[in-house]
Amino acid sequence: MESCIHKGEEICAYELKDSSGIYQVERVEELKLAAARGELICRECGSKVYLAAGLIKEPYFAHYDLTGCEYSANRESEEALKGKRLLYHLLRTSFPEEELCTRYKLKNGLYCSFYLPFTDGKPMAVEFRLYNTGIDEFYIRDQYYREEGIIPVYILGYRVDKNDRQLSWYQNLIQKSMGYCAFLDAVLEKMYLKKSFYNRFEGKGRVRLLRKDYPVKELLLNRNGILSEEFMEECSKAEKAFALPEGIREDILENALRLVKEGQGHLVSEKYRDFIRERKLLR
Ligand SMILES: [Zn+2]
Repeated sequence: MESCIHKGEEICAYELKDSSGIYQVERVEELKLAAARGELICRECGSKVYLAAGLIKEPYFAHYDLTGCEYSANRESEEALKGKRLLYHLLRTSFPEEELCTRYKLKNGLYCSFYLPFTDGKPMAVEFRLYNTGIDEFYIRDQYYREEGIIPVYILGYRVDKNDRQLSWYQNLIQKSMGYCAFLDAVLEKMYLKKSFYNRFEGKGRVRLLRKDYPVKELLLNRNGILSEEFMEECSKAEKAFALPEGIREDILENALRLVKEGQGHLVSEKYRDFIRERKLLR
């Protein structure tokens, strides 16, 4: 598990390495001693825990005894732990002065990977998961965030990004919620940002994808849940280039297309007839 309580304060294992993955050895020693004195306590069940801080594996806290504690049963993969450590540092750097909670229990009983309460604005929940959840869990979560005025940031493991020509249904849900998709490759320490555009007037429901990768260390999250302003600017440029030109209205174009298809093309203005012909919208 990633966090525990020491003398009433929450300690997070991700703090034990810096953003380059180097151990803060003094701090490790301090906590090892604290554990030996029985001062490290599980957040969920209150039993004593110790710190595992090997050189190869990510650091974590563990129970001395195999207990029925739910927190201890939920053993995460190295990839998940490292991903969360990278995100922990990204959030720390983005909001150095703010409170940052790890594995935060929401009021509805669900957990999120990180939570920033922000006393002067909308709070933010950051989720990292290597795989999709079911659609119902996603809805419960997303609706809850919306109702509570919490800004969600969903980050997925890069393996669910098949880099296809379009988004999966799950990625589409995420894009609807936060405006784009983000995938983390914890091994290469890279983040892939992706957004898809859909234009039913260009050929047959053409989809375009914009995808860029960034070293995690170069990213900063802002208060609106955006990981890269540069990426969002490129997206809005691409969207503009993809949009209908000035003077062509979507509703009128739709109507014009219907009329032409029904053999009523003479009722359509020349401007719209030309546009339909130029863009080959009837093929
Ligand atoms: Zn426990």
